Amino acid sequence: MSDRTPPAETTQSNPYWWDAAPRRSEAPATLPERVDVAIVGAGYTGLSAALTLARRSREVLVFDAEAAGSGASSRNQGHLGVNRHFYAQATAAFGKQKALQIFREDEAAIDFTVDLIQREKIECYLQRNGRFVGAAKTGHYDQMAREAEALRREIGYDVHTIPRAEVRQQIGTDDYVGGEVRPREGCVHSALFHNGLLDRALRAGARVVSGTPVQHVERTKDGFVVSSPKGKVHARDVLIATNALSGDLVPYIKRRILPYHGAGIVTEPLSPERIRSVVPAMRPCVDTRKLGRTVRPSPDGTRIVFGGRATMAESDPGVSGVRLGAIMRRVFPQLSDVRITHSWFGPTGITFQKMPHIGLYEGMHCALGYSPYGVAQAPYLGHKAALRILRANDAATAFDDLPFETRPLYFGNPWFLPAVVAYYRYKDFISR
Ligand SMILES: Cc1cc2nc3c(=O)[nH]c(=O)nc-3n(C[C@H](O)[C@H](O)[C@H](O)COP(=O)(O)OP(=O)(O)OC[C@H]3O[C@@H](n4cnc5c(N)ncnc54)[C@H](O)[C@@H]3O)c2cc1C
Repeated sequence: MSDRTPPAETTQSNPYWWDAAPRRSEAPATLPERVDVAIVGAGYTGLSAALTLARRSREVLVFDAEAAGSGASSRNQGHLGVNRHFYAQATAAFGKQKALQIFREDEAAIDFTVDLIQREKIECYLQRNGRFVGAAKTGHYDQMAREAEALRREIGYDVHTIPRAEVRQQIGTDDYVGGEVRPREGCVHSALFHNGLLDRALRAGARVVSGTPVQHVERTKDGFVVSSPKGKVHARDVLIATNALSGDLVPYIKRRILPYHGAGIVTEPLSPERIRSVVPAMRPCVDTRKLGRTVRPSPDGTRIVFGGRATMAESDPGVSGVRLGAIMRRVFPQLSDVRITHSWFGPTGITFQKMPHIGLYEGMHCALGYSPYGVAQAPYLGHKAALRILRANDAATAFDDLPFETRPLYFGNPWFLPAVVAYYRYKDFISR
């Protein structure tokens, strides 16, 4: 089947995750005149920061342009993992010691998020049953094995290399030449996690106002004035937590974040045998392709959730669902006759150095650009940004002093992405 087959399935364009966790509109009748902290963005970053601040008795107001969480935080596939690029990239850019610090902290973000979910009793199908990373090419597998060995030796990192002969115990395809299992990773139901975080932040006393874009932030002698269509609010501190949707609010940030739209699809309910024919170990899987694919069982174990991006050309989830469905069926011929019920997009923010950014710009705090591993990182760096606002001793992170780069002629419109994606497709296609 070609991945250009015309749409033949009935799909919903809302994320599958919203079936169990619909988006909610939070709208206090009036905005307060003054708060300690105004947060722009009610995704994982903004809400995690709000929770930490409200628990320490700060008056917090979180603005969201849409319903809270309708950015990436309720659209993602819920893989809880480290960014596999971090170690190699950080070593090349900053040397081994700094790379190890960054990698350790990336792992610590998983521990933080798991602990947050457990401590707050957020019911979001948390599973820490490991994640499989498939090596698409022999060179990737060799590099993976070298890195695994180095990380095991240097920091006791828990990872098992999987030779080709054992790949089918992890994933039901011959597409990979080997891989690795990272036992400390796992997955959640993304939108239930977001709703839980929203509840806990509200219960702790934070206020959240949906459907209210922040239009302007102006610095004053004792803080900021935050302007929105619902009025102005004075805030001593501001946190920008807008990730891919940063828009024109802070042009400095806009020039440093590449907004990229990831896509997801989900199958109709399938028998347990069918599900296990795709994910025998019932754990999430990713791969080393430049245009990586993700696959996992749905949290209730009845469907397959598949993610990736076929091309940058389409913006209609109906069309993208058909193309992504064709890729899924090519990788897993055992799914050739299954129907796709949901197909959706979601915005994710990538930095040029492909690492998250936490920092301060003209007095405003920001945490964003998870590139795109934000399920563990966004709650973690949201919390850390809150600690910076609180001037707490444990606010420091290994990401604090990393560069936040832009490129000449980049003003926030990634005009070059279709060409980059086409090039990546070619690189993924050429021989192993
Ligand atoms: C399809 C998809 C799959 C993904 N899968 C994974 C995965 O499996 N694992 C993983 O680790 N990561 C994944 N990610 C990435 C992860 O979801 C994000 O990194 C994370 O959710 C970022 O959270 P955030 O709070 O920073 O941003 P968002 O959740 O995007 O929140 C930003 C919010 O800011 C609001 N906003 C923007 N501008 C304004 C303004 N001017 N005024 C008010 N509000 C504003 C937006 O409305 C939005 O709600 C995926 C992303 C996508 C899109």
